[in-house]
Amino acid sequence: MTVQPPESASVHGSNLLRLVGADTEVPLVTGGTRRYVNLDFAASAPALVRVADAVNELLEWYSSVHRGAGFKSRAATAAYEGARESIRRFVNARDDDAVIITRNTTDSINLLAGTLPPGTHVVAFAGEHHANLLPWKRCGVRYLPVPESAAQMLEQLEATLRDLPHCDDPHLVAATGASNVTGERWPVAEIARIAHENGARLLIDGAQLAPHAPIDMAADGIDYLAISGHKLYAPYGAGALVGKRDWLIAGDPFLRGGGAVKLVTVEETLWADLPDRQEAGSPNVIGAVALGVACDTLAEAGMDRVAAEEAELMTYARERLASVSGFQPYRVWPADHPRTALLTFNLGETPYDLLAAVLSAEHGIGIRHGCFCAHPLMMRLLRVDDAEATRLIDATRAGSHERLPGAARMSFGLGTTRADIDAVADALRSISTQGPQWTYAVHPDTDEYEPDPDPRPLPPLPMRLVEHPHGHGESA
Ligand code: PMP
Repeated sequence: MTVQPPESASVHGSNLLRLVGADTEVPLVTGGTRRYVNLDFAASAPALVRVADAVNELLEWYSSVHRGAGFKSRAATAAYEGARESIRRFVNARDDDAVIITRNTTDSINLLAGTLPPGTHVVAFAGEHHANLLPWKRCGVRYLPVPESAAQMLEQLEATLRDLPHCDDPHLVAATGASNVTGERWPVAEIARIAHENGARLLIDGAQLAPHAPIDMAADGIDYLAISGHKLYAPYGAGALVGKRDWLIAGDPFLRGGGAVKLVTVEETLWADLPDRQEAGSPNVIGAVALGVACDTLAEAGMDRVAAEEAELMTYARERLASVSGFQPYRVWPADHPRTALLTFNLGETPYDLLAAVLSAEHGIGIRHGCFCAHPLMMRLLRVDDAEATRLIDATRAGSHERLPGAARMSFGLGTTRADIDAVADALRSISTQGPQWTYAVHPDTDEYEPDPDPRPLPPLPMRLVEHPHGHGESA
C-alpha cells in the first residue's frame, strides 16, 4: 500500500519519493565512514524505491514483448506499452504524438537528427549540452552564440528565423529546457511561439528539466522532447523521444533491424508504423517500465511541488554558500532568472578537480567537475577567449595533456536536505580556510587530482569490479 504524504508535508523525503541508497555509508580516506551526501543528481540520479520495487516485481514476469504468445509476453508487453502511456501523460504529449523508447537524451536527439526531412535547417545555441549540439552537425545547422539573457535569446532566435530562407524546407529549433551548467530554465513556451510563427518546429532537450519541473508539451507547443530515465530516478538504461509523427515516419528509420518492419524480401523492405519503426532491435523493457513508473510516481507527488521545494532548497543553498570565502558560483543569465537546483562554482584558487577529490575523500560528498559536456558554454563562463580556445584545441590535437579550464557542480534532487547543504558548505569552508587534510597527486592517466594514497576499499559487491583510473585504489 502506498502511503500518501499529507498535503502540507514536504514531498522531498516523503515515503512516496524515497530513493534507493539514501543511507549508504561511504569510507573516508581519513578513516571511518559517513552517510554519502549525493550532490550529483544532474549527472545521474538514484532510483526511486518505487521504481526498483516495480522492476523487481516485473522481473518475475519478464519475457519478450510484442510477438510472444506466451502469457508472460502478454504481461511484459502490457507493462512496456503502459510505460509509453505513463511517459506521454507525464509530459502531457498530444494524443497523436509518438512516444519512442530510446536509450537516453543523446540517443533521442540523434534519432531526430537522423530522421529529419532532407534539407531541414536547424537553429541551435552554442551553450547547449553536446548531446543537443553535436548531432545537428550532420544537418545544416546555424549555431547562435550563448545568449546573455532569456530576452536576448528570444530576440536572437526571432531575428535568425526571420532571416532564414523562406522556402518550403522544414526548420527546427533545438533548445534546452534547463541548462546542466547554470540550471537556467529556458522560456519554452515563448521559444515555441517564435518558432511556430516563423514556420519552425521546436525540440526541447528535457534532460535537466523533466526531473525538476512540470513539462506540458501540448500547452507549451513543444513539438519534440528528449528525456533520460537515469536523470528521472529510473537508471535502467531507457529514455524517450516524444513528438510529432510525420517526420519520424517519413523516411527510413534511424536504426534498421528486426521489429522495425512489416515485411522484408531481399529486394524490398516495408517499414513498420510508429513507434516500432524507430525501435529496431529488442527493446529495453525493464528500462522503459522503470521510466514509466518514475513518471507516474513523480506525477503523483506533483511536479509543481517538487519544483517549489527545490526552489526553496536553492535559496537556502545560495545563502549558506555565500558566506564561504572564495565561493564563486557561475551564471550567464540574471540572478533572479528561474533555475533548476544546481550550482556550478569554483573555490578561490583550488583546482576544481582537487575540490571534487577532497569533498569525496575527506567528506563523503559526491559532486561533478570538469566541463559538463558543454565546452562552448564553459569557455564563455570561464572567460576563455577564442585565442586560448584555439590554442587548447591545437595542443590537445597534438597530443599534449592540457589542463582544461573547468569548474565544480553540486546538484540537488529528491531527498536532498538542508543537512546535505550544510555538509557541503562546512566542507567547502574547511577547504577554503585550512586546505586539504590529506595528500593528493595528479594521476598520470587522468591528469586529475586524486587522493595519494587512497586507502578506501571498494564495497563488497556481488559482481566483478575493475577499477577505473578515476577511482584508483592503494596502488597509486
Ligand atoms: N542534455 C542535457 C542538458 C544534459 O544534462 C545531459 C546529460 N548530462 C544530456 C543532454 C545527455 O543526457 P544522456 O547522457 O542521458 O544522453
